Amino acid sequence: MAVQGLSIQVKLPLLIGGLLVAVTGIYSWAAYQTVRRSTATAVASRLGTVVDQLAGTLQASRDQLLATARTVADSAAVRAYALEPGDSRRAAAQAALRPSGAQAQQIAATELWSADRRRLLVVGDADLWSKESAARAVLDSAAGSDSGAVGRLFPVGDSIGYAVAAPVVVRSRVRGYVVQWHRIAQSADTREQNSRLSRLIGSDAHFFIGNTADDVWTDLARRVPPPPVDVAHPGGVLRYERAGAGPVLAGARFVRRTPWVLLVEFPRDVVLAPARQFLGRLILIGAAILGLGLLAAWGTSRTLTRPLARLTRAADVMAMGDYAQPVAAQARSDELGRLAAAFDVMVAHVRESRQRLEERVRARTRELQERNEELEAFAYSISHDLRSPLRAMEGFSQALIEDYGDRLDEVGRQHAERVVKAARRMDQLIDDLLAYSQLTRADLPLARIELQRLVRAALEQLDGDVRTRQARIVVEGELPTVVGHGTTLTQVLVNLLANGIKFVPSERTPEVRLRTEPRGDRVRLWIEDNGIGIAPEHHERIFRVFERLHPATNYPGTGIGLAIVRKAMERMGGSAGVESDLGRGSRFWIELPAGATFPAS
Ligand code: ADP
Repeated sequence: MAVQGLSIQVKLPLLIGGLLVAVTGIYSWAAYQTVRRSTATAVASRLGTVVDQLAGTLQASRDQLLATARTVADSAAVRAYALEPGDSRRAAAQAALRPSGAQAQQIAATELWSADRRRLLVVGDADLWSKESAARAVLDSAAGSDSGAVGRLFPVGDSIGYAVAAPVVVRSRVRGYVVQWHRIAQSADTREQNSRLSRLIGSDAHFFIGNTADDVWTDLARRVPPPPVDVAHPGGVLRYERAGAGPVLAGARFVRRTPWVLLVEFPRDVVLAPARQFLGRLILIGAAILGLGLLAAWGTSRTLTRPLARLTRAADVMAMGDYAQPVAAQARSDELGRLAAAFDVMVAHVRESRQRLEERVRARTRELQERNEELEAFAYSISHDLRSPLRAMEGFSQALIEDYGDRLDEVGRQHAERVVKAARRMDQLIDDLLAYSQLTRADLPLARIELQRLVRAALEQLDGDVRTRQARIVVEGELPTVVGHGTTLTQVLVNLLANGIKFVPSERTPEVRLRTEPRGDRVRLWIEDNGIGIAPEHHERIFRVFERLHPATNYPGTGIGLAIVRKAMERMGGSAGVESDLGRGSRFWIELPAGATFPAS
């Protein structure tokens, strides 16, 4: 994960910040939920109270409406007309029916009906407001009650109307009914009245009245759409969405002894506003805590990570070989301070050990060099000193054969010849050894050399061998220049070419190919033969002094040629190697810096 790559200075504040977010988040959410729940409970109880009170008020209004209607029904003119309708009484009855007083505005028409449900008199705008079916319904209700009845709401255009019926009683008998057609229309009065009521209830409440039996609803100003839930069984808090007003909480009650139901709606947003406000405040406080926490965490992590960073830098510097940088520059008494002090002590120890070690290595190297030089001088002088007795052995044996050959028998002569051969071989060995030991000591100044010229010189030296074996030497392409030491490199080429001609079965014509290939800023020269090849396990061995894979009788030699090649290449800053398999020829190679890399003088 990417977090694993972050520094502690970032990780610590992240961790603390995450914890703070989690804690403040959970705490705020729980607190908000609690506040919300308690708000909802409070709202439910307030809704209940408000709805009950309003229903009571409506109940009182209903009684008031009936009392008004009954006053008309009880008037002498109306009763007289109901008892005995006649033209002479009509005008007086109509006058009594005409609405007066506080409710006159709301009464659109008044009718007098006979007990057998015939319309006797009409006053006002009955054409628009009087409804036959509504009249019959309210008369049915009024018939079952002494005090009269209030009818269902019905729509009249944009407005709502309802009927109030009161019986006309003459001598304890119902002689007819007064029906008053009320209208609920939007007027300045109703608006004022409604908004006063709303303010009284609070919480931006809206109240509605509807029929229990159908979908006619009004807000006491005009007709409105019905609520989207069934309010026929009111009780508890209703929750629904009111078109244009959003989600609401509502309570409903039947208005006793009317076909009406009352509904009070509180907009949910308004009700829950305090809870939301509380949540907003919690979030603000949470953000402040988070900010402070992050700041504190950042500060703390800095005091922790600064010394650690210093320690890391010191360790890096130490890794690069500098042991002089102290870490505990500022004294701290806590764990980090102790760690820094311990680190300094450790660095001091390492520095001392390293110095001791370096001194010891220098001393040992000096000692070794001296021993080496002694040994080389010893080898050189021994080789040199061995020469004269060896020459004497060879010379006297030769003289023995030449001067006393006729006096020696066959066996004696053969012995003498062996002595000569062995002495010559020993001489060759000493020559090679001297060459090798000189190579290790000699100064080899490097220069840019033409490989082509050196190959030619080497082949001239090998002319005898080439002729004897009738060898074919092929140089592929133009040979480039390299950086090396001319004489030494010629010796290397002679040794490799000689081997390429020598280690070929006698019945086969030796064929040696030379080619070069660039390797970055170096040049590799390949010397490939068609000889007996070398098994892979011997590829390294043959470059060591005196290592030979064949007896001298088959392929003569001293076993120093390749050791000289390897040593010479090392001394010239190059390398040498071989690729071969038994019976498949050998591909020796040497590698040197390309001539172009040599700085022009
Ligand atoms: P020398 O040639 O005097 O024996 P070198 O050091 O030149 O000594 O070679 C060591 C040995 O490596 C040889 O004795 C031979 O066994 C093996 N060798 C060297 N060159 C070749 C070659 N071109 N093909 C096969 N074997 C080789």
